[in-house]
Amino acid sequence: MNHTAIARSWVEHANGHRDFPLQNLPLGIFSRPGQAPRCGVAIGDAILDLEAVLAAGLFDGAAKAAVEATVGGALNAFFALGRTARVALRERLLALLGEGSEHQGALKAALHPASECELHLPAKIGDYTDFYVGIEHAKNVGKLFRPDNPLLPNYKYVPIGYHGRASTIRPSGTDVRRPKGQTLPAGQTEPSFGPCARLDYELELGIWIGQGNEMGQAIAIGDAAEHVAGYCLLNDWSARDIQAWEYQPLGPFLSKSFITSVSPWVVTAEALEPFRCAQPARAEGDPQPLSYLLDARDQAGGAFDIELEVLLLTARMREQNLPAQRLTLSNTRSMYWTVAQMVAHHSVNGCQLQPGDLFGSGTLSGAAPGSFGSLLEITEGGKHPVELASGEVRKFLEDGDELILRARCVRDGVASIGFGECRGTVVAAN
Ligand code: CA
Repeated sequence: MNHTAIARSWVEHANGHRDFPLQNLPLGIFSRPGQAPRCGVAIGDAILDLEAVLAAGLFDGAAKAAVEATVGGALNAFFALGRTARVALRERLLALLGEGSEHQGALKAALHPASECELHLPAKIGDYTDFYVGIEHAKNVGKLFRPDNPLLPNYKYVPIGYHGRASTIRPSGTDVRRPKGQTLPAGQTEPSFGPCARLDYELELGIWIGQGNEMGQAIAIGDAAEHVAGYCLLNDWSARDIQAWEYQPLGPFLSKSFITSVSPWVVTAEALEPFRCAQPARAEGDPQPLSYLLDARDQAGGAFDIELEVLLLTARMREQNLPAQRLTLSNTRSMYWTVAQMVAHHSVNGCQLQPGDLFGSGTLSGAAPGSFGSLLEITEGGKHPVELASGEVRKFLEDGDELILRARCVRDGVASIGFGECRGTVVAAN
């Protein structure tokens, strides 16, 4: 059943909902006060408790097996079942939640207002890898250091990434404690120790790995999309002053590992299907990907057209009842490599990927001002502060600042869907 064939939901507030109409059906882990975390599906402003629907006997066959795999408060075992199980569950949920469903009475008892629920990480994350596939970000940052030669020679051959820290990934809403660390103040030859003074955000797409691979067995590019369970928003909070001092020669370390925020809902590959597009053509003179990264079907439909947005709400803006101010409006089309290319490259040396592993895309900036996905780019390293409606200015984030990431998928003829929000408020260093 595709998006256009789907009618309305009997859950009225889902129809036309900004993020979670019937066409989306993202999965997550939620809890109600005093209860253990369990799997739910976002529908409008409510969450459908899948364990309660299972107990009511409304699932059978592959859909029942899919829900049984979610029991226990993490989606890893469900992710491991792959696409067939996800599709079976989706088809059943479309029937149950669609207009004319015969089971509304039983389902109403399993629906809870989202505002009364707490959302958790959707899976136990074994490994987290952060890529660098946003080419405009790579150019913008490269320009700050190498004006004549912003991209390093490997960029157009290798989906660049580094191994991040899984233990400090947190769901939206978790406060961001300003990290302390070593920095080298301008003009000094010896480092100082103290709170980060250049705290930044990075707007990224998060990718949840579904079925993994055996160690030693690479995932072929043509199969790689099948290994992705779904997507989220990811904020790779970054301490630029710590990063500048520590990053050579092995890359980011403590400048990134203090927290990474993700939106809690897993938007499935199936829900995003109508928003796939061809990978944008490479610029003239760019090399073709090596053959292990090149697949005709992936090139023809392996990219995404997803609008991404970042908003800032400072403490003073909250006091003045001002709305959050947009810092960034960009799009996933700025990804130089597809998600399938990231999966194929990650495993080509025999590295094992496992269900519930998380990838970050890298910062997704556009080419033009207004579309830069970090303050490092927007302010050119602090040289040009952002002016806010409250009369404040920002070079980097200050205590009390809240960052809000959003994503929206829009295409003529199909229902729009969104990702929900990825929020985080900066709090003072310990
Ligand atoms: Ca990053």
